[in-house]
Amino acid sequence: MDEKLIYELSERIVKAGKELYARGLVKGASGNISARIPGANTFLIKPSGACMGNLKPDELVLVDLQGNKIRGELNVSMETPIHAAIYRARKDVQAVVHTHPPTATAFGIAKNEILPLQIELFMLLPNGVPIIPFEAPGSRALAEAVQKKIADYDAVILENHGIITVGTTVEAACNLNEMVEEAAKVQLSTMMLTGGRVMNLAELKKKFKM
Ligand SMILES: [Zn+2]
Repeated sequence: MDEKLIYELSERIVKAGKELYARGLVKGASGNISARIPGANTFLIKPSGACMGNLKPDELVLVDLQGNKIRGELNVSMETPIHAAIYRARKDVQAVVHTHPPTATAFGIAKNEILPLQIELFMLLPNGVPIIPFEAPGSRALAEAVQKKIADYDAVILENHGIITVGTTVEAACNLNEMVEEAAKVQLSTMMLTGGRVMNLAELKKKFKM
């Protein structure tokens, strides 16, 4: 194992986690973050019960792609099966971020997909952010449902729960997470102004000439 590489990646995860906390995307010990070890069938993940705001590099847990702990003092995050399922399904994905940001989470509760109504959001999320029907947190059923949907999307909503974003770096997955919350806020404001009416994806694609 390349210890230097693992330590450097741990530091990046910790830094990204602190930013998620500072941006208000996670509260208390909620949410989780992970990153694949390049060239290995393993990934590092936040331990269960840890707050992203004061995470330490040596607290991260090393896990295999079946979600089994390989190394670490603390217990793995409850949603480790989701992270493992995503890394198995998407070879391009290097990082996974799961949060419960209030506005995007509310869209999942209202069963209202998040749409990229603004041009920059459209470039990042050209197919919107679909909702995965509720399954119990930590369950195999939830991991399987996410694995299926994530094949076609970089961001998904978990009904009555939160959101998941993926990326080719831990920083990209975090930024996309923030942009999903931003898209939800823009959509909510638009709906307040229009009485709930927004363009659908086909109309947006036509408008943005995509
Ligand atoms: Zn959660």
